[in-house]
Amino acid sequence: MKLKKGDNVKIVLGKDKGKEAKIEKVFSKTQKVLVHGVNQYKRHLKARSQGQPSEIVTITKPLPLSNVALICPHCKFPTRIGFKVEKNDKIRVCRKCNKKI
Ligand SMILES: [Zn+2]
Repeated sequence: MKLKKGDNVKIVLGKDKGKEAKIEKVFSKTQKVLVHGVNQYKRHLKARSQGQPSEIVTITKPLPLSNVALICPHCKFPTRIGFKVEKNDKIRVCRKCNKKI
């Protein structure tokens, strides 16, 4: 998985295209990410019991990984991620400025 929780991403596809926000959760199995405040839908919940009002809740749906681009914390541009091995550790690097992310 190239992205992780806390990464800042830019939405490049879909209804929230252009928005920038932080990743809240990564689903590596389905290759999806949950981005704060992005891809929100309103769902109308019907009252389950008498006397309880029905309500509208906002839910955030995960986005496919291909819909987001990581924003490099160094050069501040949406970038592709590269990998480098440093001291037996696989590290992520920005393809634009080559700095560690
Ligand atoms: Zn960069």
